[in-house]
Amino acid sequence: MILAIETSCDDTCAAVVTRDGEIRSNVVSSQGVHARFGGVVPEWASRHHLELVNLVVDQAMEGSDWDDVEAVAVTQGPGLVGALLIGVATAKGLAASRRLPLIPVNHLQGHVAANFLGGFEPPFLCLVASGGHTFLARVTDHAGYETLGQTLDDAAGEAFDKGARLLGLGYPGGPALSKLALEGDPTAFKFPTAAKVAGYDFSFAGLKTALLYKVRELGDDAQRLKADLAASYEHAIVEALILRITRALEHEADPRIAIGGGVAANRLLRERAQSLGVPVHVPPHALCTDNAAMIASAARYLEPTPYPDYLALDAYATKRAA
Ligand code: ATP
Ligand code: FE
Repeated sequence: MILAIETSCDDTCAAVVTRDGEIRSNVVSSQGVHARFGGVVPEWASRHHLELVNLVVDQAMEGSDWDDVEAVAVTQGPGLVGALLIGVATAKGLAASRRLPLIPVNHLQGHVAANFLGGFEPPFLCLVASGGHTFLARVTDHAGYETLGQTLDDAAGEAFDKGARLLGLGYPGGPALSKLALEGDPTAFKFPTAAKVAGYDFSFAGLKTALLYKVRELGDDAQRLKADLAASYEHAIVEALILRITRALEHEADPRIAIGGGVAANRLLRERAQSLGVPVHVPPHALCTDNAAMIASAARYLEPTPYPDYLALDAYATKRAA
């Protein structure tokens, strides 16, 4: 069994997963405290991880025996460096005290590996869209992937959140905006999908600005047309995602798609993906949003670092190839 810890953002996560991908536990403690600030406050996130991480690990280990744990895995990056360090230090301590090996895992590789837990095996195209990341990858084996495209500015979930904020819908705004969109007309307004960006890269900053200008232009009418604005805005985000997937699918001999990250919960995105006429895999919601089971899943295919070589291991904040 592998015990994994994930603390890259505001969720404190630990999970126990067997070598063949059976999830024994998958504990997530979400920090509701950030909602009132309209976003994650890094220093608060770190403090909460520190308070919660041992409890979360204990809960994940309930019903499992330490003697059956063969390695400790941990998210090394990318993410908030102070938050990551809590996970890395905890994982080192747990592993070192038992002389177990440590497996550092790239967070994005974790999102990709969430699909393996459901038996969805490479090759496939994988879209990961969350509050912090948006990228499209070609997954040809379990231990890595080729990044085809990524966002040049905002993440798709961030675009949902910023749009929701402009429409006065609170944080995190994706679910609220999507709900309101159900009552609106997606063709009422035409928002940009950055279709001119060649290849597979995404850009959502222009879309957000377009919504801001439209709301200003509408003035008092914006309130009355809120559902139409939400529907049109959601439509643009989803079409931007689908456009890149469609471009990439053209080059696939065996076209299949996996979608992960919090935005995978979006109803329209799922419907549109399913309408492309190729197999689509979306992991259960708990494996799409940040969790440690996906980190354990990725760790199964990576080389463990033996004790004590990992004691100098550091977290990294910025994106690196997995
Ligand atoms: P990370 O980026 O590190 O993976 P995160 O906490 O930012 O972590 P997730 O928890 O994976 O991201 O996802 C949260 C994001 O997903 C938010 O931006 C939220 O608005 C968006 N989201 C959640 N549900 C929906 C939905 N139904 N429609 C659109 N967006 C959604
Ligand atoms: Fe994530």
